[in-house]
Amino acid sequence: MSKDTAIEKLVQWDKDCVLMENIESILSWDQETYLPENAVADRANQLSFLAGEIHKRRTLPEIGDLMKVLGLKEEGSVDNSALSEKDQALLRETGRDYRQAVKLPEDFVREFTKQTSLGQQAWQKARQEDDFSLFQSNLETLVSLARKKADYLGYKDHPYDALLDCYEPGSTAAELERIFIPLKKDLGKILEEISVLPKVDDSAVNQEFDIPKQDAFGHRILADFGYDLKTGRMDISAHPFTITLGSKDVRITTRYMNQFFNAGIYSTVHECGHGLYEQGFRSDLEGTSLASGTSLGIHESQSRFWENIVARSSAFWEYYYPALQETFPEQTQGRSSGDFFKAVNKVVPSCIRVEADEVTYNLHIILRFEIEKALIAGEIEVRDLPDIWNSKMKELLDIVPGSDAQGVLQDVHWSFGLYGYFPTYSLGNLYSAQFAHSLEKELGPVSELVQKGDFKKILDWLRTNIHQWGRQKTALQLVQDITGEPLNPAYFTNYLKQKVGEVYKG
Ligand code: MG
Repeated sequence: MSKDTAIEKLVQWDKDCVLMENIESILSWDQETYLPENAVADRANQLSFLAGEIHKRRTLPEIGDLMKVLGLKEEGSVDNSALSEKDQALLRETGRDYRQAVKLPEDFVREFTKQTSLGQQAWQKARQEDDFSLFQSNLETLVSLARKKADYLGYKDHPYDALLDCYEPGSTAAELERIFIPLKKDLGKILEEISVLPKVDDSAVNQEFDIPKQDAFGHRILADFGYDLKTGRMDISAHPFTITLGSKDVRITTRYMNQFFNAGIYSTVHECGHGLYEQGFRSDLEGTSLASGTSLGIHESQSRFWENIVARSSAFWEYYYPALQETFPEQTQGRSSGDFFKAVNKVVPSCIRVEADEVTYNLHIILRFEIEKALIAGEIEVRDLPDIWNSKMKELLDIVPGSDAQGVLQDVHWSFGLYGYFPTYSLGNLYSAQFAHSLEKELGPVSELVQKGDFKKILDWLRTNIHQWGRQKTALQLVQDITGEPLNPAYFTNYLKQKVGEVYKG
């Protein structure tokens, strides 16, 4: 077979797989938004059938042979200068997925899937009843399966590296420690400084806000930021998410609380950031595996950029204040844009990660990283987790959860079998500040652009530097190309110090 025919064959195979994955996404989207209650079992069968078919197609032995013919090496690099850069990247990325998928034996995958569905049920009950013992044995099984998974996938230094690599290719436990150890210290110092300053009044966001009006306000922001509502839509779900159903169909969801303004607006803006990334891939990548986020950390950097750096800025609240006053005359009566800016940036150590502010959020992640790494290495036991969790909360945030539901049982991830996933949330925060620094070098302060409502300039920069590439550039390459250095947490801590100064001392 000539190499031209071989690459055409690979592209066609990949496009067929992506089509099936899009169909799978339609079923998942519907499940999370509009599925009637009694259809849950039907949908589970449909999804698991389709997942099996996709797995079969993604791991076809002849595709493995084809990849070798095309120049994919054992360790994952591509040796074929006759291919275009884009085709080399397609081979590298699909090759990566392929090699990972075929390393896991089918019975293992089936067992893992079964245990995660049992695990989720047990976790829900345990959290509801605030009783860790109801989840303990499921968690023991899941952790031992995760360790097995690491062995199947293989690693050089630490078994946790194999799991991390599934979500953040190229990341390792040692690299995370290089970043997290100084970050932990810096965040601790910032928290200490804030603890002696007067508390921020956040009553502005804790009022009654009509939900249809919140929805209209959110849709206005989506349009302003450049999210294309003809290539997507926004619905409501319990846990907000972004999902791609096709090259012209990138949907987001949000959730609203009528007594708490932050929930709706920041879920909307966060998912908008993910959606803008997915809407921004170069058109010649459409329908292939390259039209996808290059890592979870980079994906999260796009949501966090719009959520925190843009929409939690004082410039954002100034720009939108007249519109807010028009939509919510009573709630804004006697208040200024600055009151809202401060209210949405209040820093206070709390037990629940998803409710954490920008300063404490990463400490919640560092806690999970330290625990996961030790669990996967077999250095700690599942039965000791509630105590370990609480003592780490005391060490990092100086508070102790009143219950396991507020502590070790709060997140769904471990019951899903997701180990090595949490760190990508922090990486997203760190990347977002480092990217913002480069953006500002070219375009001037983000605050000035936001104050003028010039979101298009911001989006164009993100499109050119980040979005268009999809998976054609790896996360490591992207950061190096844009910022001239690898991930550096100093950009994030500098950004935070400035923000905290504005909120607490301004
Ligand atoms: Mg996100």
